[in-house]
Formats: sequence, structure tokens, C-alpha cells
Amino acid sequence: MFNEKQVMIPGPTPVVKAIRDEMAREIQAFGDPRFVADYKATIDGLGQLLNCSGKTFVVAASGTLAMEMAISNTTKRGDRVLIVSHGFFGDRFIDICTRKGLVVDVLQSEWGQIVPLTQIEAQLSQHAYAAMTLTHVDTSTGVVAPVAEVGELMRKFADTIFIVDGVCATGAENEDVDGMNIDILFTGSQKAFGVCPGLMMLWASQKALARRESLGETIPEYYCDFAKWLPIMDDPSKYFATPAINLVWALQKSLELIVAEGGLSVRDERHRKNALAMQSALEAIGLRVLAEPGHRAITLSNLCYPEGVDDLQFRTTLAAEGFTVAGGLANYAGKMFRLGHMGNIDINDVVAVLSGIERALHQVSGKDVLGVAVTCYLKEMAAK
Ligand code: PMP
Repeated sequence: MFNEKQVMIPGPTPVVKAIRDEMAREIQAFGDPRFVADYKATIDGLGQLLNCSGKTFVVAASGTLAMEMAISNTTKRGDRVLIVSHGFFGDRFIDICTRKGLVVDVLQSEWGQIVPLTQIEAQLSQHAYAAMTLTHVDTSTGVVAPVAEVGELMRKFADTIFIVDGVCATGAENEDVDGMNIDILFTGSQKAFGVCPGLMMLWASQKALARRESLGETIPEYYCDFAKWLPIMDDPSKYFATPAINLVWALQKSLELIVAEGGLSVRDERHRKNALAMQSALEAIGLRVLAEPGHRAITLSNLCYPEGVDDLQFRTTLAAEGFTVAGGLANYAGKMFRLGHMGNIDINDVVAVLSGIERALHQVSGKDVLGVAVTCYLKEMAAK
């Protein structure tokens, strides 16, 4: 019997008590000056955190709406876009862009690998692209894209808006909107910010805002039009659509925790050290990390089963041991599981889940793995 099932999927991630408490606060009117001040402080704080001299948007929605918002505000029917995809979520842009009547070119990698920079550059040189999308961490593969390097490359292609999906990265990977030449970055509250699902955050550069302006007074989309939200982000006492009040408070608390931790570079280091130790530990018990070394995310691990381990049996056993992990997507359904390790988790959470994985693997395969991953992890974490 377990009191609680620990959710270790790649989002929603565990929500710590300080953030959960914000969800339970008594509601205020969205025009209440106290809430207006909190909303404004959150928007401004997020802009500073990601070093964005353009605008920051905090809107009630999930990450998918942010994807749509990014495309809708930077392209018009008939424009050409380049989608660089490292998996399922990169591919999601294909549908979004096709429905919008864009001309879509796609560069796809094998799952677990990345599209080389040289290939991106060669493709960008072929046509005039209105925008290019790149997923910082594709949650389906656990692959991290070299966003800073691609951002450098984009300086040569000044007419192309560089859109980065940070849903599984922002708040854990070190990101810098101005410094990395990113035009649009977005995420959802439920990932590395460790807040309940329901908010999207989007950072837009001056260049992206100018692109929106060039599209005219209105665009076909209503709820995700930058022009509708800009007055609210400047002055949240104005109304466009009802803000998710308690989620904004929860996000404000999350931001406070991130700043108290030392900011994004410290958070990146914590995630990196933890992920490397976890990935060695999981390999030590016979699981294969799908992403190639050098391209592995620090926010989650996508783990292929050893021969003979049944996905459903493993995940059901692990759930009985107190842990929920996610299954593989698309071609990897049944072949791997996905383990989230981003946001506000600590060494105790990781030891617990590694131990649960050992117990589940032992039960379903009979392999002598008890204590192996935990020992490996603890040793690596203790090393300088
Ligand atoms: N992009 C990435 C990289 C994701 O991981 C996800 C969600 N797992 C999304 C986009 C879509 O976000 P949401 O589920 O919040 O709509």
C-alpha cells in the first residue's frame, strides 16, 4: 500500500507544497489591484528570467496553443516555413502549419538523433522562409537540440523568425531569448516550472512583434492574436479574457523558487548533474537511453526496455510500487517508457523512483538489479 502515487511522467511534473498552496487560495477578482500587481510582477519577472527585451505573454492554455500562437502571429497563408523535427512534437508543427495554408518543408532526424546544423543551413539557403521551428527538447525522444548554435546560424537569415518550442526545456535548460537570437520561445506551466497544467508562457522578440504588426490589424485567429493580449500584458487591469488567477499565483511562486535557487544557469547545472547520474544508473540496470550521447535531454529520459520486458507489465508493476511513468509514443509505443526528471524534484525523489524501477524490473524480468541503479546514482552524485 502506498499513500500516494508519485507522478514521474514528463509533465505534469510534481508540484511542491509552496506552489500547491497558491492553488488553494481564496479567489480574487481579476481586476483586484492585488491580483493585477501579482500578474504584472509575474509577466515582468518571466521576461527578466529569460532575458527577453520584447514581450512576455502569460495566457490560460496548454503548450499546443502556444505552438499555434507562435505560427499564427508570424506567418500568413502561402508563406514558407521550415520545420526541424526531432520527433512527435516537432512533427506537430506540420499539422498546425499545413492547416494554416503554409508551404511546409520538413527536416526530420531519426528518433534519438538530431538534424545536423549543416543540413539546416543548407535548407535555409534554398528558400526564403518566413519562420523556422525547432523543439528544444522533444519529449517523444528525449533529444535536446543545439538551440544556441542554431540561434547563431539564424543571424545569417534575418528575415526568418526563429521559433523554439521550450515546453520540455524552459525553466531547466539554460535559455536566453535575446542572447540566443530566439524570436519566439514558449512553454507550459506543467513542465520544468513545476506548476499545475493550464498556463502557457511565450516570449516574443522585437522582431517577432514587428512581424505580427506587418500582418495587419487582425489575423484569422482570435484568442491567440498577440494584438489582443499585448494591452493586457502591459496593463493586466484591462480585460480581454479571464485570467487563470490561481495558476498565475502558482506561477509567481514557481518563479520565486527559481530565482531563489540562483536562476536558470544554476537550475541547468542541477538538472544536468542529476540527469547524467540518472542516465548512467538506468543504463547500469540494462535500460537503453534512446537519445545518443551528446544529444541527451536533462529534463527526461526515454528508456528502451531490454529484450523480453513487456511494457504494460512493467508499467503496471511500477505503478503498484508507487510510480507513474509515461509510455513511448508512435513507433516506440510498447518499446520504451519515458521518465520525467525536471522541475522541483530532489535527490530523495530520484532515489525513490530509481528504487521503484529496480523493484519493477526485478519482478518482471527476474534480473538481479536491486540496489544497482541507486548505488550508481548516489556515487555519481557524490562525486565532484
Ligand atoms: N511540445 C512539447 C515538446 C511537448 O512536450 C508538449 C507536451 N508534452 C507539447 C509541445 C504540447 O503541450 P501541451 O500538452 O501542454 O499542449
